[in-house]
Amino acid sequence: MEFTAEELWARVLEMMRGQLQEQTYRTWLSGTVAQSLTESEILIEVPSDFHVEWIEGRFGGLLSEALQQLLGRPLEVTFRSTEEASPLAIPAIEVVSPTVAAARSAGAAASVPRPSLNERYVFDRFVVGNNNELAAAACRAVAESPGRVYNPLFLYGGVGLGKTHLMHAIGNTIHGNDPTRRIAYVPAEEFTNDLVACIQAGTMAEFRRRYRQMDLLLVDDIQFLKGKEATQEEFFHTFNALHDARKQIVVTSDCPPKDIPGLAARLVSRFEWGLVADIKPPDYETRLAILLKQGVDDHLTLEPDVLDFIARSCTSSVRELEGAVIKLLAYSSLTNQEITVELARTALKGTFGSTPPPGAARSSPERIREVVARRFDVREEALSSKRRTRDLTVPRQVAMYLIKDLLDYSLVQIGNLFGGRDHSTVIHSIRKVEEALATDDEFFQMLEDIRHEIDRPE
Ligand code: ADP
Ligand code: MG
Repeated sequence: MEFTAEELWARVLEMMRGQLQEQTYRTWLSGTVAQSLTESEILIEVPSDFHVEWIEGRFGGLLSEALQQLLGRPLEVTFRSTEEASPLAIPAIEVVSPTVAAARSAGAAASVPRPSLNERYVFDRFVVGNNNELAAAACRAVAESPGRVYNPLFLYGGVGLGKTHLMHAIGNTIHGNDPTRRIAYVPAEEFTNDLVACIQAGTMAEFRRRYRQMDLLLVDDIQFLKGKEATQEEFFHTFNALHDARKQIVVTSDCPPKDIPGLAARLVSRFEWGLVADIKPPDYETRLAILLKQGVDDHLTLEPDVLDFIARSCTSSVRELEGAVIKLLAYSSLTNQEITVELARTALKGTFGSTPPPGAARSSPERIREVVARRFDVREEALSSKRRTRDLTVPRQVAMYLIKDLLDYSLVQIGNLFGGRDHSTVIHSIRKVEEALATDDEFFQMLEDIRHEIDRPE
């Protein structure tokens, strides 16, 4: 029987669907698209590199079997990542310097090279919160009237907070409104490499012409220009040429212009001509909104308590937030377990980089004891007393557990904090709490509340 690539793949997917858990299927296989079919091979596009690795490793065997069954002969299956429209994949931004753009348009010299922007990075997918309101509004304004408001626009903020996303969104909007506009997106490092290459090849005139003919120049991560005087010099001239011609310039950095060490004062002052807007880490509400939005966009459904858990635990950046979801999906799929808060806690343990788990941000033995005592309505000193009534035993165990969990004190240290108790008593207490956590949902929730209470500023 003759199949087209799509038909064959549709059948394979049907078979896989019958064999895998729904969630696993949806996470890994539903976004796959057959590209081509030859005698010996079928080529499948998947949303990310992560998917390639994962599908090959985990479903490679099953897929080969399914193909064998359908065709009556073996067929090799090859995966390729599109990195576009990917379910929560961390998108690899295609870096296109004007050199590449120029090369691409070679042969069609008169036509405007299509700007190479990540199509996923659009305003509609960008969640606006208190942390990024000004930056987002400025970007929209610039996208609607390039070269007329805020020029240059300088965005700064920590890693993974959406600077690149906003920059591409500007480019995508401008391109959408007028495809003849010449747009260059260039990471500062790329600008430098390009410059060096042109200096070596003796094609500086070409370099200048290329950059200076742009209608929109997006330079990402300008902090990379620190200490690179020749590049800064060249950028300064490019900047002036474009600015004089009322062409829009957008620049991002990890800090404000004046804090970039080794950035020439005149460049700093140029950047300050326009608008300098910062992006801060998202607050809880924004983090939750981002998770919800991405869930909708990517057809993923996670329970509200799981989303809440991730939004609370993952505090440093949006990129980390996305990474956490991918990791959780992978873990759930690998272990064939349903996604619950407990599973999330296990799967994501230690993944929040320098971000402390809930409770750790402000914790100290004193703080933990204070919050626990208040929660159980007992006096803090009573936690160290020798009394063993139940009203004291449970809060004492909880406080010991949290000190171990959040501060990783030794058993002996913990014993000492509680009136010189012996380390076996401490172990026993911690075990008790662990048991209760595993079996008693209400207890689990109470402990979550205490953790957040510990974090809350007074
Ligand atoms: P930066 O350039 O600041 O390091 P990115 O723009 O690369 O950060 O953002 C990291 C990831 O987080 C991207 O996948 C981006 O789409 C996403 N992201 C960041 N901020 C938001 C937001 N406010 N709403 C939706 N997605 C966001
Ligand atoms: Mg970036």
